[in-house]
Amino acid sequence: MFIDCSGKELFILKKIANASTELGMAAYLIGGFVRDKIIGRPTKDADIVCIGDGILLAEKVADRFSPRPNVAFFKNFGTAQLKADDLEIEFVGARKESYSYDSRKPAVEPGTIEDDQNRRDFTINALAISLNKEDYGQLIDPFDGIGDIERKIIRTPLDPLQTFSDDPLRMMRAIRFAAQLGFNIEENTFKAIKEDRDRIKIVSQERITDELNKILLSKKPSIGFDLLYKSGLLHLIFPQLVNLTGAEYIDGKGHKDNFYHTLQVLNNISINTKDLWLRWAALLHDIGKPATKRFEEGHGWTFHGHEVVGARMVPKIFNKLKLPQNEKMKFVQKLVELHLRPISLTKENITDSAVRRLLFDAGEDIDALMLLCNADITSKNKQKVKKYLSNFELVKKRMEEVEEMDKIRNWQPPITGEIIMETFNITPGRSVGLIKDAIREAILDGVIPNNYSAAYEFMLLKGRELRLDPVIKI
Ligand code: ATP
Repeated sequence: MFIDCSGKELFILKKIANASTELGMAAYLIGGFVRDKIIGRPTKDADIVCIGDGILLAEKVADRFSPRPNVAFFKNFGTAQLKADDLEIEFVGARKESYSYDSRKPAVEPGTIEDDQNRRDFTINALAISLNKEDYGQLIDPFDGIGDIERKIIRTPLDPLQTFSDDPLRMMRAIRFAAQLGFNIEENTFKAIKEDRDRIKIVSQERITDELNKILLSKKPSIGFDLLYKSGLLHLIFPQLVNLTGAEYIDGKGHKDNFYHTLQVLNNISINTKDLWLRWAALLHDIGKPATKRFEEGHGWTFHGHEVVGARMVPKIFNKLKLPQNEKMKFVQKLVELHLRPISLTKENITDSAVRRLLFDAGEDIDALMLLCNADITSKNKQKVKKYLSNFELVKKRMEEVEEMDKIRNWQPPITGEIIMETFNITPGRSVGLIKDAIREAILDGVIPNNYSAAYEFMLLKGRELRLDPVIKI
């Protein structure tokens, strides 16, 4: 066998080979599994192409396992899937494809292994390994995919302009593989993406967003977003990010390029988290800057309120990208809105009440916010970065102290609305809200400690101000 498989994987592949021999069908291991094994990347999905009926082969393979795994099949596509051990295996008959201009879904007809390799998107994805008796384990590499893996290159097997025009999702895939694998896109292949970029409009938003998420989850996501920008695809699929590019100068004063700053923040945070939504927050943290940019005489460039404007843009962006409109979106929105707060604390004397307010507003997302804020400290000036980072450590320490003392992080009001209503014998209404808010503010400002008896006394005081009398229960 040409690739480095585990004993269990070899055992499964042997069963597939035996089943295909029994059916008199040629079968090959192909695509991502072969690529990832050669690169040395973990993989749990294996694609099998056979010269014949893929569903029939899958059923025959399943018969050879005990207990027999369930075969899920899709008659229309001629594909079948089963799980053996922890390997997801997909079976399909080799095919030849032809495309029409208005759709990325090809017409297909049965074909040879060569036809099937010709329809693959990249040379590194067209590698196949024979599972047939006469040449079991033999690599079939018609486009020098191995050479491209060695050279770390993404390249289409056939004419790139045609390849991308046929299925424009491949342009996103090229950039995603470049980001995931740290490969370069070969010159002509990249040129073709630039030329074919408008074809992206025939790809569904869900597929585009799926690729964006994979780029975001890659080790160094800046590679992917930079390529999207340089190819012109970003202008079509995410214009708000393009608006962040460039630095304007007035009277010799410039501001930093917010696009590349954003990518730096995204890379920084990716070192510390694999959380997709925290990475989205990093990508969008400055998205409100173009709309709030001003040049102030004697002051330079300002972006006042960009965090509020940016937070307001998040639902629209999520909606357009067909990302979930749920608590994940709210998390991203909250982080965008709060991203300046921890660092702005360092610019003043850090008061306990400012720290308490931050802990209260961030709630359970405070750790995520601190990661974002830390990642946001970028500058070419090493001294500046050092100073910011040490101030930031100070804020972190103060937060720990205040939290230890006041337990604000998952704050629950010590006096509930029910207690207020019962105490003053009133029904739900404005007064209840006023008293509750006053108690919360007093705790956050440090006027009273965060406990029941102090809050109870304060409630009585506020009630009196509102001309409410406590009901005395005997
Ligand atoms: P990943 O699992 O990370 O998405 P993969 O390469 O395994 O990577 P799949 O989408 O599972 O990706 O596709 C399996 C194989 O099918 C690919 O390796 C490639 O050979 C082929 N393929 C997938 N999508 C396309 C496409 N749009 N055009 C041409 N070939 C494709």
